[in-house]
Parts: sequence; structure tokens; C-alpha cells
Amino acid sequence: MVTRHSQIRLYIDAPLHEGAVVALGRDHAHYLHVVMRKSEGTQLAIFNGRDGCFLAEITQLTRKSGEVICQSLQEAQWYGPDLWLLFAPVKKARLDFMAQKATELGASVIWPVRTDYCQIKAIKDERLTANAIEAAEQTERLDLPEIRAFSDLDTLLDDWPEDRALLFCDERISGDHNYDAARILPRIIEKKAAILIGPEGGFSMAEKAKIDAVKNVYSLSLGPRILRADTAALSALSLYQALCGDWSK
Ligand code: SAH
Repeated sequence: MVTRHSQIRLYIDAPLHEGAVVALGRDHAHYLHVVMRKSEGTQLAIFNGRDGCFLAEITQLTRKSGEVICQSLQEAQWYGPDLWLLFAPVKKARLDFMAQKATELGASVIWPVRTDYCQIKAIKDERLTANAIEAAEQTERLDLPEIRAFSDLDTLLDDWPEDRALLFCDERISGDHNYDAARILPRIIEKKAAILIGPEGGFSMAEKAKIDAVKNVYSLSLGPRILRADTAALSALSLYQALCGDWSK
């Protein structure tokens, strides 16, 4: 729930079109009425991740409920690059951070994976989703990243889609210039890509062998220093966006 350029932007999961009347959930009503001190007649922007962003007006509002009407399309729907982030989850606060920042940096899929040295046993999908929504509101992207269920890396690799480049961020080749991003990333012509980041303990030898055997794998060094998993994820996303994603032409 974000205000920028003095316009509030809300993500609401309901069909949006001109004239659509949309109910506000309790959280949104509370935010608008109590936090932002808004009332009937206030304009705001709403988006649902698929129908574009609409200029809307509040028609009813109390602390607990409310309604808005969509007036006009403000921005047509657009989507960022087809870029997945696969990562072994880290502890709570840094996981929140990872989901927020990956959304800001334009990941289309956020996919926690279970690896041999991963310390986390379970994660809350709804928490990842809440962080992604907040970041999408903030960053003015119109699509939401898809949050996939915590899955075994092993199973995922068995079924790796042939048309998707797997960018294997491997701490063992850190600093080896043969694997510099500027050398590797321009070779990805498929455009569909997935970044793979390991846990704090790194990847096991068995995992490394299996990853290396994927048809479309590209090993990537993120420089001479060993980064923490969240820093590594954000660095790789930024490099991809700059060299082959939507920061470049
Ligand atoms: N315990 C490991 C470090 C793991 S860092 C060790 O000390 O070697 C967590 C993850 O971040 C790694 O699995 C890798 O995917 C990524 N990473 C960190 N630094 C990197 C680098 N310089 N190059 C490529 N990947 C890196």
C-alpha cells in the first residue's frame, strides 16, 4: 500500500475494467481510512497484475470496509522479462528482504528450492506473497511475480525445461574471469532464464554434478568475493537485467 507522486497505489485481486465496482478488503479500508485519512471522492490507482492499472475513486469507506469504482485505464498491462529466481531459502528477515528486492528487480517467478545444505525446513508462501505485493505496489510494476511452492532442487533439475537457460551462480568459480557476467550473459539468446543461488553452505558435489549436466546451464561468477545468498541473488538479477533484460534495449 504505497503513496508516491501523492497517488496511492493498491494491488487488488479482482477483475478490473472501466466502471468496475471493487470491494476493499479490511486491510485496505483500514489503511485508507485510518492511516491515510482518506474518504469518499479520493482518487487512487489500483492494479491486479493482469488488467493494467486503473484510476479509481473511493465511493464508500469506513474503518473496516469500502468500495472503489474504476474510472479509466491509467497504464496498459505490461510484463517484465521471463526471469526466474531459484534460491535456497534463508532465515526470516532476509527471506522477506529477498522477496521484496527480487520483485523490485523484476523477477517473474520466485521459487524457493530445497538443497542438500539448506537449513530451512518450511516456509510460509503467504509471507513471500505479501512481501512481493508490497514491493510491486512500491516499484510500480504491473505484474506480480509468481511465488512457487518450496520444491526439491533435484526434482526440478530432472525436469528442466530445454528452452530456459540455467544461470548457475557457483561460488567455486568466484573471480574466474572465464565466467564473468559480461562474458557469459550476452551468450544467452533464449532470453528465458533462471538464476540459481545456493544456501550459505553452498552446493554439494552431487548437486554440482547434476547442475552441470543440465543442457542449457551457464556457470556464472559474481566476482572475487563470496557473497551472502541474498546479496548474490540481487547481484545476479541486476546483472541479468542490465545485460540481457529490461535495463538494456
Ligand atoms: N559457503 C559457501 C558460500 C555460499 S554463498 C562458501 O563459503 O563457499 C551462497 C550462494 O551465493 C552460493 O551457493 C552461490 O550460489 C552464491 N554466490 C556467492 N558468492 C558468489 C560468487 N562470488 N560467485 C558466484 N556465486 C556466488
